[in-house]
Amino acid sequence: MITDKIEQLLGEVQMLSAQNADEIEQLRLKYLSKKGEITALMADFRNVAADQKKAVGIKINELKQAATDKINALKEQLATTEDTDNELDLTRTAYPLPLGTRHPLTIARNQIIDIFQRMGFTLAKGPEIDDDLHVFTKLNFAADHPARDMQDTFFIEQNPNDVTRNILLRSHTSNDQSHYMETHQPPIRVICPGRVYRNEAISARAHCFFHQLEGLYIDKNVSFTDLKQVLLTFARELFGENTEIRLRPSYFPFTEPSAEMDISCHICGGTGCGFCKHTGWVEILGCGMVDPNVLEACGIDSTVYSGYAFGLGIERITNLKYQVADLRMFSENDVRFLREFEAAN
Ligand SMILES: [Zn+2]
Repeated sequence: MITDKIEQLLGEVQMLSAQNADEIEQLRLKYLSKKGEITALMADFRNVAADQKKAVGIKINELKQAATDKINALKEQLATTEDTDNELDLTRTAYPLPLGTRHPLTIARNQIIDIFQRMGFTLAKGPEIDDDLHVFTKLNFAADHPARDMQDTFFIEQNPNDVTRNILLRSHTSNDQSHYMETHQPPIRVICPGRVYRNEAISARAHCFFHQLEGLYIDKNVSFTDLKQVLLTFARELFGENTEIRLRPSYFPFTEPSAEMDISCHICGGTGCGFCKHTGWVEILGCGMVDPNVLEACGIDSTVYSGYAFGLGIERITNLKYQVADLRMFSENDVRFLREFEAAN
């Protein structure tokens, strides 16, 4: 009698199916709970003849195991079906895809590169970790020259007997120029964008790393006039055709003569405003004719060739275009800030 019941339940259990978690729970209650069918069998088990108890006991255990396995399998099947449903929601629209935005420094850098490439400059790149020889010495910084103090950087290896062998994070992209001149003969016409490092306290106006872009032109008969015209064209391409430039005498170890370049304030058009501190001019870059010592140190005959170089801060240009008040915002990865530049891409 009890064995018939066990066979019947075993048959039922193998055929179980369910559409959702509720139905599975109903099945669990029906077969496996304390008031379920299998527990009820145990009451009958008391009446089984002693010599049959062992065989019937084994059968009941098999039934219980089969019910447990089946219900677990139904649960697993349901979970898999739900996952698949989530991944394959065919009603979802494919657009708009969530696109990111270009970083404002990248936008400005690409615009600058584009302008100089149209004037025939090609891109050159050098290492961010370099030796003193290429960052300072070949660029006419004497070992004890005070100009080195203006570019205090981070040292990786210091060699007290020979400073030219110090290994450091470059403080300007000019090392790209010394590497390029060592390996190429004129005519040379390159721009070198990249990241540079300074030992500076981080504030709204200064950071321990920032970005520069330098240009170098070396050929026969290159004059200061060429430099001025290239920079005027650059300023007008970037800030508008009415932009004026002015050059003020300055000092850099690697150029002679050297100059700082201002552009007429593009906010007030040169009449004076808070942005240009009521001068009508804003500083934009440094430039000059390459010092013959630099050419010679890099293996170029300074009696045959001459050239000019210029360098600008990409953060500076970005600020002039977009008026970002705090330099630190460029490296904080705040999405709210970065989304401001969606339209500028
Ligand atoms: Zn102004």
